[in-house]
Amino acid sequence: MQHLWAAWQEIAEQIRGAKHILLLSDFDGTLSPIAARPELAALPAETGRLLQGLACQPHITVVVISGRALSDIKARVGIPGITYAGNHGLEIEGPHVSFVNPLAEQTVPVIHSVYRELSQALAHIEGILVENKGLTLSVHYRLVEKGRVGELRQLFEGVINGTGPDGRITVTHGKKVLEVRPAVGWDKGKAVDLLINLCGHDEPFPMFIGDDLTDEDGFTLVKQRGGFSVFVGGLTTKSTANYFVGSPSEVAEFLGQLLSISGRQHPVR
Ligand SMILES: [Mg+2]
Repeated sequence: MQHLWAAWQEIAEQIRGAKHILLLSDFDGTLSPIAARPELAALPAETGRLLQGLACQPHITVVVISGRALSDIKARVGIPGITYAGNHGLEIEGPHVSFVNPLAEQTVPVIHSVYRELSQALAHIEGILVENKGLTLSVHYRLVEKGRVGELRQLFEGVINGTGPDGRITVTHGKKVLEVRPAVGWDKGKAVDLLINLCGHDEPFPMFIGDDLTDEDGFTLVKQRGGFSVFVGGLTTKSTANYFVGSPSEVAEFLGQLLSISGRQHPVR
C-alpha cells in the first residue's frame, strides 16, 4: 500500500488515458469527517463544490455509496447528477439506474422487528442510538461509555440469536457501529459491479474511496475491474486498497486534482 501522492504520476497518467471515469466514494469518514452522532455529519462545502464540478463532466460518473439509507445520503449530499447508493448498495438511484435488491425488500419486516427488540433491550444504555434504515439497521455506540460496550454486545447478540437460526439476517461491524442486514449475499462490491455494468459506458475506469471494513468489498471489486482504490485513514495492513490518504481533507485534495487533470467543463452556476 502506497501513499496516493507517492504514486501520483502513474495515477494521473491512468486518469488521463481513461475514456470514462467512474468515481465511487463512501460518505462518512471519507467525504465527511466522522461526527459524534450520524445526524451531525455534513459534507464540507469545498468537497461539495468539487463533487459538483466532477458530476457535471460528461466523461465522469460520480457515485456516493453509503451504509446510510438512500433518502438520508441523497439529502445529505444533495448534488444533482450524482448516483446515490444507500444501505451499502441495497438501494441505488441515479441518472442511469434505479434499483432495490428484491430479496432485501422481503426482509424489511424482519429488520423492523429486530429494530423494535434492540430498541427495547438497549434503551437503558446511555449514548446508544439504534437507527432503523428500512432495509438494514445500525446500532451506533460512539457515545457509549467504554466500560459498557461489553454489556451492549452481549445484549445485542442475545437479541440476534433470539431471532432464530433461519439465516435471514446477518451482522456486520463498522467504526463504532454494529449493523443488521438481510442475508442476501449483497455488499458494496456487488453494488459496485452492478454500477460499473449500468453506468452506460463500456469498460469505465473505476476508482473507489472508503475508510471502513464495509468498503473492502468495493476495493477488491474495482481492482478486479481494472481500477484502483484509496483507503482513508493512514497506512494500515488491514486494508486491501492500492493507496491510502490520511483524512477526508486529503480526499478533497484528490478530488481537486482529479478535476484539474480531467475536468473539461465548468459547472453551470
Ligand atoms: Mg465510512
